[in-house]
Amino acid sequence: MRLFSFEVQGQPRVGVLQSAGAQTYVDLSVAAPTLPTDMGQLIAQTGGLAAAKQAAAQAPAAAVRPLAGVRFLPVVPRPGKIICLGLNYADHAKEGGNARPEYPSFFLRGPSSMTGHLQPIVRPKASTKLDYEAELALVIGTRARHLTPANALDCVAGYSCFNDGSLRDYQRKTNQWTIGKNFDASGPFGPWLVTPDELPPGAAGLRIQSRLNGKVMQDANTKDFLWDVAESLRIITECMTLEPGDVIITGTPAGVGYARTPPVWMAPGDVCEIEIEGIGILSNPIADET
Ligand code: MG
Repeated sequence: MRLFSFEVQGQPRVGVLQSAGAQTYVDLSVAAPTLPTDMGQLIAQTGGLAAAKQAAAQAPAAAVRPLAGVRFLPVVPRPGKIICLGLNYADHAKEGGNARPEYPSFFLRGPSSMTGHLQPIVRPKASTKLDYEAELALVIGTRARHLTPANALDCVAGYSCFNDGSLRDYQRKTNQWTIGKNFDASGPFGPWLVTPDELPPGAAGLRIQSRLNGKVMQDANTKDFLWDVAESLRIITECMTLEPGDVIITGTPAGVGYARTPPVWMAPGDVCEIEIEGIGILSNPIADET
């Protein structure tokens, strides 16, 4: 199943694509009006995703809408926490001058730093050093603590694409990366939440790319993670409880803009795409802060 979040008159709704590549979707607020219209709440409700699947399969014609013109929200619009791994691909650690790490770097993003598919990535007034990072995102479906490699994947509701947009000068102003990773509308998330049954276990072995104005900038595979999805979940839940709707983004491979000669920065008029095999294409124009 492929679900997404969109906005109507300032309120979140959940849509379900009837098939990969479909140009229409089922509006769950029509097909299943008793279900939560916020993706995080839908995931948190026991049996919520199964009910969504059944409602989408049985949807009346009145609930089927064209995808064109939909205003996408981040797949989970208001996650409780967004946990980000840094340096999870050896080639990206190397291009940044870092030794192969022994433990992931972790930082958090806040919900206000996100934006939806097709919405602009905002280049802020404070900086022009706006960089892209193609990342696999996963969304937590069930409360989890002290996961093991054997059961870790059971808590995953689905996978999506994330562009961990970064203002590199602000990222490097302090030894904590948080400030450069939390500018408003710098981190697109979407378009789809793809449930695990449609993907290999742990979303392993999927090609992941970023493209800037159609030119391939990053081209890697999720089999190259230093810490795969199950191991990342084990490490995180050694320390904290994961709750339904929480998001984990899994780090980016080599090819980011700052490590190029000369550096490449995203600017208004550009379009940045993140594509992950079997999941989809997250596409965003860049616009200046107004
Ligand atoms: Mg990143």
